[in-house]
Amino acid sequence: MARIVMKFGGTSVADLDRIRAAAGRVAREVEAGNQVAVVVSAMAGVTNQLVGWCQSLSPLHDAREYDAVVATGEQVTAGLMAIALQAQGVEARSWQGWQIPVVTDGAHGAARIERIEGKGLIHRMETGQVAVVTGFQGLGPDRRTTTLGRGGSDTSAVALAAALAAERCDIYTDVDGIYTTDPRIVPKARKLARITYEEMLELASVGAKVLQTRSVELAMKERVRVQVRSSFTDAPGTLVVDEDEIVEKPMVAGIAYSRDEAKITVRSVPDRPGIAAALFGPLAAANVNVDMIVQNVAADGTTDLTFTLGKADLPRARRLLDDAHEAIGYAEIAADADVAKISVVGVGMRSHAGVASTMFRALAEKAINIQVISTSEIKVSVLVGAEYTELAVRALHTAYGLDVA
Ligand code: ASP
Ligand code: MG
Repeated sequence: MARIVMKFGGTSVADLDRIRAAAGRVAREVEAGNQVAVVVSAMAGVTNQLVGWCQSLSPLHDAREYDAVVATGEQVTAGLMAIALQAQGVEARSWQGWQIPVVTDGAHGAARIERIEGKGLIHRMETGQVAVVTGFQGLGPDRRTTTLGRGGSDTSAVALAAALAAERCDIYTDVDGIYTTDPRIVPKARKLARITYEEMLELASVGAKVLQTRSVELAMKERVRVQVRSSFTDAPGTLVVDEDEIVEKPMVAGIAYSRDEAKITVRSVPDRPGIAAALFGPLAAANVNVDMIVQNVAADGTTDLTFTLGKADLPRARRLLDDAHEAIGYAEIAADADVAKISVVGVGMRSHAGVASTMFRALAEKAINIQVISTSEIKVSVLVGAEYTELAVRALHTAYGLDVA
């Protein structure tokens, strides 16, 4: 017997048949003797429609009223799920964020959960009642309903699992787990049985939209074991867990890519103290996030400096650097938006040597030029021409032995 949280995403509750099927899964867990809390999203497409309605009436709508509108999607599915469970003979009751309460801060539209009062729910679960909880919503300090930001019901589920000291938080979705890389690019991508929280955070592009990033951060902090699995099959999913739970750590767990990058090279920057500050200060002040940075050793008193940033920030960054031309004193600026960042990720690289050299060799064999390199404790990233994205990901997937046999 265990206490578990089962979260169903929008596609898993998209219509009445799917709600019935999801309720059937819950019923099986209850029959197996488990105490179950269910967290539901709105039916697929509903939140988009609600957001659209707010925007149509007024692009600058009041955030409190936005929350009043968009939180209704989850209220509907929670009630329907409770009815479906009752119809299958399972005792169940629905709960909205304010009723529990799920206490959040006051940032309407992007609120953070501060505390969940779990005692009442635990008591009911112990008597055999399934608690069906609305994802995505909470109660703000103004005593009004808040929402957590798009995709926030994952975070609701993880936070609830922490508050209930649940053994596991199962996220039922439309994919059957986390893969070593994007299966649309690499048909030989493999489903991972387990992955660490840290790797999952780094592999955001591989797990794109599977889990809200904040839910993974929260799971890592609260040590909640999360399982990503499909609501359409019975295949086991991927467990997102602490490193200690993975005995054989592969050097590389997965390969991520991002086409949202751009590169700026600032040529002939004077080599003296304060120049990097003069260059990156205005970018930071304007909230432009800089990722990889390389600076060469100066030869003639000047040096070139290259960095990457989000593609969407490129025009703004160029303008800021134009404005700072005199203060920095560079010769010219070159920008390139036709780049992609490829990253190999794995906690195992902390204890294995040769990760980077394997990467460079594999790319060289495919004649792919590396423009920028950066590393962290569990990641090596390279910037390459965008047209090489697929080729690079496939070559690396093979080079690290990740292909399915
Ligand atoms: N229904 C909300 C959304 O679509 C929350 C969620 O599904 O996670 O963003
Ligand atoms: Mg989601």
